[in-house]
Amino acid sequence: MSALLPALVARIARTGPISVAEFMTDCLLHPRHGYYTTRDPLGAAGDFTTAPAISQMFGELLGLWLAQVWMDQGAPAPFLLAELGPGRGTLMADILRATRSVPGFHDAARLHLVEVSPALRARQAEALAGHDVTFHDHLAALPEGPLFLVANEFFDALPIRQFQRAGAGWRERMIGVEDDRLIWGLGAEMQFDLLADRLADTTEGQIVELNAPALPLAEDLGRRIAAHGGAALIVDYGDAVSIGDTFQALRDHAPVDPLSCPGEADLTAHVAFAPLAAAARPARASQPTAQGVFLERLGITARAQALAARLEGAALTSHVAAHRRLTHPQEMGTLFKVMSLTPPDAPLPPGLDP
Ligand code: SAH
Repeated sequence: MSALLPALVARIARTGPISVAEFMTDCLLHPRHGYYTTRDPLGAAGDFTTAPAISQMFGELLGLWLAQVWMDQGAPAPFLLAELGPGRGTLMADILRATRSVPGFHDAARLHLVEVSPALRARQAEALAGHDVTFHDHLAALPEGPLFLVANEFFDALPIRQFQRAGAGWRERMIGVEDDRLIWGLGAEMQFDLLADRLADTTEGQIVELNAPALPLAEDLGRRIAAHGGAALIVDYGDAVSIGDTFQALRDHAPVDPLSCPGEADLTAHVAFAPLAAAARPARASQPTAQGVFLERLGITARAQALAARLEGAALTSHVAAHRRLTHPQEMGTLFKVMSLTPPDAPLPPGLDP
């Protein structure tokens, strides 16, 4: 039984229905019962698996991408090598291993991780043993300087608000209480300046999502990168803009009703990349590029073949499956997008659609 459910029911009964964002924040980050704050949810024994755990090739290619972009910008030293929401630390460990022989890269790198979960901070420290790591609760706490940053499946975990089109206005989707259960409802009709441009591409009853915390983060990334140089690589499922309800809960690798087990399931929504790109100006954003295309352009097939030469039997079968899972259009290849942010005057980074 979810420990958070009675607390949420009592709170809503006392102070009224809450937005999806308030619900997500409590479910994911509640200090005692939150999903991320209390556990390591990743991997086969957890609720979901991410690209770095599927194959070392993912982190290796991202590491070489970072090193290339760093060299293209004149190899600034020192620089911040940073990650948002590093999970188990696998991606950063693979990035560091792949860049070991890039002259000057490790000497110049100062490792900064943005992570709110104490449970996952411990896993990250373990995975990165031997490296000097500084942890932060928030991107804003990072020191200023050239910033080379990755964020894989981070933005999808940030709390979204949902709005349903009603005439020339909107009604916010809210979560209320009936018979001690959480239920869906709709707030009063309102006009909303932030969604004015969405009146053109939606029809009555359609849902749009607003990832409010993502916008100031993208703005801060863009400001830092334009001012000091660097690059951000954002990888997540989603598309240029958000249309429709993409709020989902995953438990034991299967979808569940998000209201059924607060704090016990992973809650995410698809990422809308165009608003991030706009918020990051004056930094230049690439197009959100399909992950499969991006990884192919960086040479994942050659890397996969080199690794395959040393494998046989079950290990070879699972390696081939991992390659397919990361790149195939019916797996992660098309659903997942990659978007870079770079200084307005820097060369276009490899692998991405301009
Ligand atoms: N990037 C990792 C993990 C993705 S899960 C991977 O690809 O495997 C999301 C990660 O973001 C977790 O580490 C989670 O604890 C962290 N996280 C979620 N919300 C956060 C927030 N508001 N601030 C900082 N970290 C957050």
